[in-house]
Amino acid sequence: MKLSNTPVDSLMMFDRQIFIKRDDLLHPEFSGNKARKFAYFLAHDFPGAKKLIGYGSPQANSLYSMSALAKLKGWTLDFYVDHIAAQVKSQTEGNYVEACANGANVIDLSERHDREGRSCEEYIKEKALIDETQALFVPEGGRCEYAEFGVAQLAREIVDWAVQANLEQLKVFLPSGTGTTALFLNKYFIESGSNIRVLTCACVGGDEYLNLQFTQLSQFKTFYPEIISLPKKYHFGKLYRECYEMWQRIDKQGIRFELLYDPVGWIALEAYLKSASEQTSIIYIHQGGLLGNASMLPRYKRKFG
Ligand SMILES: *Cc1c(COP(=O)(O)O)cnc(C)c1O
Repeated sequence: MKLSNTPVDSLMMFDRQIFIKRDDLLHPEFSGNKARKFAYFLAHDFPGAKKLIGYGSPQANSLYSMSALAKLKGWTLDFYVDHIAAQVKSQTEGNYVEACANGANVIDLSERHDREGRSCEEYIKEKALIDETQALFVPEGGRCEYAEFGVAQLAREIVDWAVQANLEQLKVFLPSGTGTTALFLNKYFIESGSNIRVLTCACVGGDEYLNLQFTQLSQFKTFYPEIISLPKKYHFGKLYRECYEMWQRIDKQGIRFELLYDPVGWIALEAYLKSASEQTSIIYIHQGGLLGNASMLPRYKRKFG
């Protein structure tokens, strides 16, 4: 099972060469980014643990990756969601379907009578964990200290590659959800004395939300990656013509990306490169997530042809 040491390719975009860290080539069950974030659980033993508990969107890559992790470890998975849309229940492919096939127990809180207005996180902390002293709880999208272990390995790979490639100035770009990957990468570069820095953009909830996520991960502002603001607000999971067009442009360059984060990421990167004065080398992290295309691509084709 490939869980680290991915190659670096490059492609031409925006009239320049951009390096691509191919984390999409990590084991498909952990969909790139989540392989890094869950590496700690894969590398360690947890005697006594029998259950993994998480929450988030029923369409999330993290649901699928947690189901794969649980299966591999011989644990059960309880994954709490706010609500499961009828459209998601009727899907035949994608993260939700594959997670259920892996045995995930997806719990729809809108059907629980003792919810009493609680968020998923509150419900887990106040209700579920009381009876589950042995369970391992992973916050949304793997936003926790555990993630630092695997993300530091990714950072080391980038530092080593930059040394070999003789790149003195390098910026790492990746689109963010919770910002966990971006923050722990930037933290590693700073703490190890490297001058590589991380640029990111907010694909969920806007710049303020992403900043808030950073504050929950570290109290030190110096570690926070630079957030590239988007030309307009994109709602996570919604379809936009310019996102589809951007995805098609990159696809023509020969590397397939996913459709939730990457189109927004490349739009932000284009905006950044237009405004940047220096010509620093850029490495874009391909964080996988291609399983989600099974439901996203048909939606895009229906809408924009
Ligand atoms: C989970 C995920 C992200 C977001 O990662 P964060 O660490 O939450 O910012 C980005 N891209 C893909 C493909 C993902 O699966």
